[in-house]
Amino acid sequence: MTQRVYNFSAGPAVMPVKVLEQIQRDMLALPGVGASVMEISHRSGAFIAIIEAAEKNIRELLSIGDDHAVLFLQGGSRLQFSMIPMNLLGAGQVADYIVTGSWGKNALAEAKKVGETNVAWDGKETNYDRLPDAAELNLQPQAAYCHYTSNETIQGVQFATEPEVGDVPLVCDASSDIFSRPLNIAKYGLLYACAQKNAGPAGVTVVVIRKELLKRSDPNMAGYLNFDVHAQNESMWNTPPTFAIYVLRLITQWLLDDCGGLAGIEAANREKAALLYDVLDDSPEFYQGHAQPEVRSQMNVTFRLPSDELTAQFVSEAKAQGLTDLKGHRSVGGIRASIYNAMPIAGVEKLRDFMLKFRDAHKDAK
Ligand SMILES: *Cc1c(COP(=O)(O)O)cnc(C)c1O
Repeated sequence: MTQRVYNFSAGPAVMPVKVLEQIQRDMLALPGVGASVMEISHRSGAFIAIIEAAEKNIRELLSIGDDHAVLFLQGGSRLQFSMIPMNLLGAGQVADYIVTGSWGKNALAEAKKVGETNVAWDGKETNYDRLPDAAELNLQPQAAYCHYTSNETIQGVQFATEPEVGDVPLVCDASSDIFSRPLNIAKYGLLYACAQKNAGPAGVTVVVIRKELLKRSDPNMAGYLNFDVHAQNESMWNTPPTFAIYVLRLITQWLLDDCGGLAGIEAANREKAALLYDVLDDSPEFYQGHAQPEVRSQMNVTFRLPSDELTAQFVSEAKAQGLTDLKGHRSVGGIRASIYNAMPIAGVEKLRDFMLKFRDAHKDAK
């Protein structure tokens, strides 16, 4: 197959064609360098210019000021599940976890290995189809931090705004919705995201951390695990993932130059998600959304069909039409359409049309 499909994978996921073409163009020789980005020193002027441009773009997109450091790390979001408590959760302290889906549960499980945790809320009773109200949160006023997942990639539930946690530093796993909408970064103690959902290829994880929190890192902990070591060395304590950072630079440039920044991409994301949710709302007897309507994700649209047979048929017929990777995660079942920033509206329209036709062909047979 040489035609590009509409790829609804949850991650690694679709990337902008323009960026793929830039990578292709520069693959053998970066302009002015004569070698690919993979072949040059991370201490070379050419690479320093790339990592500085990536950081500048991220700061511009998220309006990050001097109070926060931006780090480029490896180990994915899973390593952050451990690094965050290792750096921020001192002896005798407790960390709050708001568990709204599979990733929050995984983050909590790793934190428990490091220190004391408090489950401020857990949505398991309704299989993570909703989010807590402020009044439902059982927060500890002296908590070292409060961790939540802004978008649960598997269940498809997304916070519209940050939970209110008072003076406790807010820590957010934004792996699957970073750069999908503007944020008020002043509200965050730490925000992290692996790149391979909405920001680029696997291999780099962006951590935005309030500089004041860097004081909590114990100098005797393993160097790579220490946020302060990475901040002091501008993410160059060891060799950073140079290729992934180069792509992140191109993606953030695409957001700024071609998408109207985060306000522009947010409007496009809302429009795309509405196309699919309208189908669910119009066909409740055939398509059942997993997330409650008020907390539906703009990134991962999850729904079920009347039977497993119809679900399998939906996935295979869609694939034959160039709509791929629509099978839901086994813990939720059904279908998951991941429609990240780089998914063009034409892809979502094609999926919408397919869903309508499939419904009409099978609604009486169910
Ligand atoms: C994918 C994902 C992770 C895990 O990321 P890795 O880079 O594989 O460790 C964590 N949190 C969320 C919300 C995710 O979507």
